[in-house]
Amino acid sequence: MTRLKPMQNDHDEERAGQPRLQIRNRDLRDDQQEYLQGIEVCIQHLQDQLWILNKRIHDNPELAFEEHRAHDALTGFMRQHKEWKVTPSAYGLKTAWIAEFNSGDDGPVVSFNAEMDALPNLGHACGHNLIATASVAAGLATAEMIKQHSLPGRVIIFGTPGEEDIGGGKIQLLKAGAYKDVDISLISHPGILNNSPRVRTTAFARIEAEYFGRAAHAANSPWLGINALDALVIAYNSVSVLRQQTMSTDVIGMSITNGGAAPNIIHAYAAGVCVLRAASASRLLRLQDKVSACFRAGAEATGARLELKITPGYADHVPNLVLASSYTKYWNALPNIPDPPIPPGEQLTFVKASTDQGNISYAMPSVNASFAIPAGPLKGQPHSPDFERSSATKEAFGRALRVGMALAGTAVDVLATPGLLKEVKAQWRRDMEEAGVKPSGV
Ligand SMILES: [Zn+2]
Ligand SMILES: [Zn+2]
Repeated sequence: MTRLKPMQNDHDEERAGQPRLQIRNRDLRDDQQEYLQGIEVCIQHLQDQLWILNKRIHDNPELAFEEHRAHDALTGFMRQHKEWKVTPSAYGLKTAWIAEFNSGDDGPVVSFNAEMDALPNLGHACGHNLIATASVAAGLATAEMIKQHSLPGRVIIFGTPGEEDIGGGKIQLLKAGAYKDVDISLISHPGILNNSPRVRTTAFARIEAEYFGRAAHAANSPWLGINALDALVIAYNSVSVLRQQTMSTDVIGMSITNGGAAPNIIHAYAAGVCVLRAASASRLLRLQDKVSACFRAGAEATGARLELKITPGYADHVPNLVLASSYTKYWNALPNIPDPPIPPGEQLTFVKASTDQGNISYAMPSVNASFAIPAGPLKGQPHSPDFERSSATKEAFGRALRVGMALAGTAVDVLATPGLLKEVKAQWRRDMEEAGVKPSGV
């Protein structure tokens, strides 16, 4: 990775022997400059070990909830840091883990999530090895700052399994009470397009529909039958018509998974699946109602019995703007700012993907920072073989460490700045009210 030092912008060249703090970033207070320097030193010291860890996770891809080797590598690594209390297989989830550092003084509880799972047939094509690396680096550096500056509070790193598909390891941990005392949650995700801590992902749900009709001979006595496939086709067409009245951020995909037994039978059974995405959890519920009505229309028209199974997927991610502004300050204070720059002001970055960190953002203030790693020759995005190779490079690892530094800066800000956590939570409450959710817990 590149050498790191606080500086004003990426065009400044370091002059040999110059004391690091002479070049200052105007956006950082004196104490923040010191934290950033301490964070850099800590992560630089760890980088050789972190590289081995990162590579081991990348080269041993495991599917959702089967991240046994990653679990063992990460808990083993955290156990080498004696002040941390490490809990393997936490909350009844074999591959979940928790590492906690306690300053001994009451204060904010900051946390980082470390994802570990890979994709079927593609390996680490979503770069979760980099997410784990960034979060572990950030957690360790935050604890180091607590020690060096006698800050109060606690740092927790959660090993969160099963993010891909709709496994929802974080949702399971949330439900089990793992985040009970946690004030903020920080994580990152690699891609090739954005550097941004203000990421909105989409809300996602899956609807499975089954129609139960009555079989009859299609030539002999069709009037005795109830055609389940007809019901499904009516639903399919209704959904197609509904698309005219949906919002540009709504996505409805549908497939027929069982189209009946044979053409000379009135179909007694048919089934289909719908996946829905929307810009917010409340919009998703509205869309869910509309699509469910389409399925009911098929049942009403044919007399077939409908069974609908709605699997709630992931909520949209609501980025906390106060935390995002801390992240931006530290990201921009580090040298050699990579392209593209973080969008200015409070501009949001919309990513048409879904993550269970979205559900976390409805439970507490969260940042899910996107970061761009150098693209491969095919400019492959996440979930492509090209991106799997990109996420194994030293350059990608260097970016993950930079993210770890900015995440640690964000956490240290919350621990060290009186009143900041209150501000973060007030923003979260406003966001929840805007999303139509009654805030609880925080
Ligand atoms: Zn993914
Ligand atoms: Zn991912």
